[in-house]
Amino acid sequence: MKHVIIGAGVAGITAARTIKELDREAEVVVIGDELFLPYKRYLLSEFLSNSIKRDELLFCSVRMLKELGIKLRKGTWVKAIESSKKMIKLLHNEVVHYDKLLIATGGSPTLGLVLQPHKKHIHFYYSLYDTLVLKEKLPEIQKCIVFGDGVSCLDLICMLRNLGKQVTYITKGERATFALDEYDFEGELQEFLEEKGIEIITEDQIVSIEETDHGYKVETIQQKMLTTDIVFAWDYYKPNISCIEGSAIEKKLGILVNVNLETSEKGIYAAGDCVEIYHPGIKDYWINFGMPNALEQGKIAGKNMLGQHEEYKIQEAIVFNLMGQSLKARWWK
Ligand SMILES: Cc1cc2nc3c(=O)[nH]c(=O)nc-3n(C[C@H](O)[C@H](O)[C@H](O)COP(=O)(O)OP(=O)(O)OC[C@H]3O[C@@H](n4cnc5c(N)ncnc54)[C@H](O)[C@@H]3O)c2cc1C
Repeated sequence: MKHVIIGAGVAGITAARTIKELDREAEVVVIGDELFLPYKRYLLSEFLSNSIKRDELLFCSVRMLKELGIKLRKGTWVKAIESSKKMIKLLHNEVVHYDKLLIATGGSPTLGLVLQPHKKHIHFYYSLYDTLVLKEKLPEIQKCIVFGDGVSCLDLICMLRNLGKQVTYITKGERATFALDEYDFEGELQEFLEEKGIEIITEDQIVSIEETDHGYKVETIQQKMLTTDIVFAWDYYKPNISCIEGSAIEKKLGILVNVNLETSEKGIYAAGDCVEIYHPGIKDYWINFGMPNALEQGKIAGKNMLGQHEEYKIQEAIVFNLMGQSLKARWWK
């Protein structure tokens, strides 16, 4: 039986590992577009602030892949899925056949219409590649502007502040909540950050970014003119699901799956940040972002690709280290 997995992140690699641990004979091929060995995305800030070394980022080594017999194809983009022929198409038109398929393509920061034209002046903070580029630039950077939402944004702000950078955070919201349930901080997250020296501008957004001799000039919708050495910005996190375009796999914002993580197409599963699953509590489909979820879904998808019928239980919260304080966070409001 040939199991093909698209995406070499936490969910994809965990599924591959689970399959091989349960069935040594299974053929497992993981196809990922990044050029690096699978790594722990959630530790990028620790790496950037030199708290951990690069090899501590590794989620699995070449040795582990070899021992388990997992074939990893790095630097390879999957462009389409043809479920009627049980095959996927790679960017260079190579065709790969499968018996069972897992889509574990994650989600990434995305720019809306206003920021799109300024893309070349914006630094993303999502991948090891982004982090390596940033590591080179950081010594010359003092002033940073961050515009965005979600825990990865909070993570970025904390890392920059811990490195002694001057941080201005701009949010469209009335308060800086990072789209989280602030339960642990009883609504005081913004005050906590301000006490730590973060400047917070609310109910505003970046409308233009201009390069100058000394950095960037940033204009906001409230007509504030700011100067900075670097701009980090994104409007929202979006599941990476371009590979299902043109297929019959059902989607909303993410790929829709049932409790067994199977999509609307038989034999095709999906796991991690690219997935939308029914949440009985909020009575709607919901993206269960976060590392613990990606791990758990990867494990369950792997088992179910081998014919088991394990159900995924919603992971309610993650715990985030906020400058030494524990923040119990949800990814929705
Ligand atoms: C800076 C940062 C800090 C974070 N901190 C935390 C934290 O503290 N706690 C927490 O719980 N979570 C955190 N997260 C989120 C966490 O890292 C993700 O939830 C987790 O990595 C999701 O795993 P995944 O396997 O679903 O997707 P990913 O890790 O995103 O992996 C998906 C992979 O698939 C690849 N891919 C996409 N499309 C294709 C295609 N068509 N063909 C081939 N490959 C493709 C992607 O490039 C990527 O390599 C953080 C994320 C970031 C960016």
